[in-house]
Amino acid sequence: MSTDQLLDRRKFYINGAWVDPSVPNDLDVIDPSTEQPCAVISLGSPADTDAAVAAAKAAFPAWAETPVAERIALLEKLLEVYMARYAEMAQAISLEMGAPISLSQTAQAGSGVMHIKSFIAALKEFEFDRPLGDHAPGDRILYEPVGVCALITPWNWPMNQVTLKVIPALGVGCTMVLKPSEVAPLSSALFAEMVHEAGFPAGVFNMVNGDGPGVGTQLSGHPDVDMISFTGSTRAGVAITKNAADSVKRVALELGGKGANIIFDDADDKAVARGVRQCFMNSGQSCNAPTRMLVQSSIYEDALAVAAQIAEQTSVDIAANEGRHIGPVVSEVQWNKIQGLIATGQNEGARLLAGGTGRPEGHDAGYFVRPTIFADVTPDMTIAKEEIFGPVLSILPFDTEQEAIDIANDTAYGLTNYVQTTDPDRARRVARRLRSGMVEMNGQARGAGAPFGGYGQSGNGREGGTWGIEEFLEVKSVSGWNPADG
Ligand code: NAD
Repeated sequence: MSTDQLLDRRKFYINGAWVDPSVPNDLDVIDPSTEQPCAVISLGSPADTDAAVAAAKAAFPAWAETPVAERIALLEKLLEVYMARYAEMAQAISLEMGAPISLSQTAQAGSGVMHIKSFIAALKEFEFDRPLGDHAPGDRILYEPVGVCALITPWNWPMNQVTLKVIPALGVGCTMVLKPSEVAPLSSALFAEMVHEAGFPAGVFNMVNGDGPGVGTQLSGHPDVDMISFTGSTRAGVAITKNAADSVKRVALELGGKGANIIFDDADDKAVARGVRQCFMNSGQSCNAPTRMLVQSSIYEDALAVAAQIAEQTSVDIAANEGRHIGPVVSEVQWNKIQGLIATGQNEGARLLAGGTGRPEGHDAGYFVRPTIFADVTPDMTIAKEEIFGPVLSILPFDTEQEAIDIANDTAYGLTNYVQTTDPDRARRVARRLRSGMVEMNGQARGAGAPFGGYGQSGNGREGGTWGIEEFLEVKSVSGWNPADG
């Protein structure tokens, strides 16, 4: 395809208008199913970043003073626009990052709807102005928007991440610059069109494309940015935190994970199959994926047989085809990284039960990875420690409850752990002892508005619901407030 046939997404959305980059700097967006360019964007330069931040700064005072009911009304309008253009959104996500179209039409695009709805509901309930308590009748607590926010997002669940940040920031009265992943920028460009169509005032929401060393770094060090909300790798989270330190910005981080899925011998009979499928979902590219399956020794061999069978049954195909297959991984960089880690697993002595290096049969082009299962993994192996971000499951045996908890907690991360047991006392006991921001038990998904975030190197933020609203707020404590004034 020649460059002039590609979808042209070179413009940035700054101060309510689509503008050309100050300096041309094209980057092709690659369709991971074909390895061919499907669109072209621009990487921004400092002048673009400055213009976007200046627009957000100028828009802040009026937006912060806008009554919350008016901001919610605009979010409701945005929800309408999102619903009207839902099919386009699903298409954009599927094309840019390779999620099979059926997954894109459900979970990927659907996560945006869920978060917009859930934040609207939470904002309606949130008390921005409340008394401290009966013991101090003259004290008032005011929640105020933190200011200009830089929102930096990854490619794996693009609208999930964008709406978890943009919606609460808009709702509480912050203004912002969104820098989506340069690998998957098409859904965010569409989202910016939706924000425009919904009628938000100019400058409240801005979007500039760019990479980490460019726009990402310019934003994290920018003197007029008050807060960075970042989702992505721990590596980038560390770099951002350091760069933001000189100007004492608030930094909210949602980073990687290496979730343990503890399967006790009294688990329901679907637990192993469910765990494998969950690990492979989105081609294994979820920070909260259960990538370490810990299986009690008495059911270990049976579990391996089931896991291998599910891996063999997992089909791999291009994103455009409908169905329950998994798609490619997002990029050549990720494909190479995953291949290296599979080879490392073999070299370090893990037993390969299914899959392995190389492309699956019938896929010579596209970043396709074979659904892979390793057994007899030990906690010290690289594949038990590092986030692989591909359809690769490590299975580790354990004997006792204490041993399972110790292995699960033996990680630098702490995002989501999973527990499978039919003993309710054990389930609660183990859930309390796992060092992670989230625990999912017996296949029960967490509800809308539940806080999403991690312990340790999984980050310090909590997104979603009330917690996700509070992330974008300053807390002001005022005394001498006459309670009679309300
Ligand atoms: P990444 O860190 O490479 O990139 C994420 C974003 O940060 C991109 O927009 C990128 O341009 C930008 N960036 C990169 N380096 C930067 C820097 N030095 N300064 C400023 N910005 C920078 O991550 P990725 O490969 O896009 O995404 C995968 C990672 O995201 C995985 O580690 C995954 O676990 C994590 N993730 C975490 C969550 C969560 O909520 N905890 C959710 C999804 C993904």
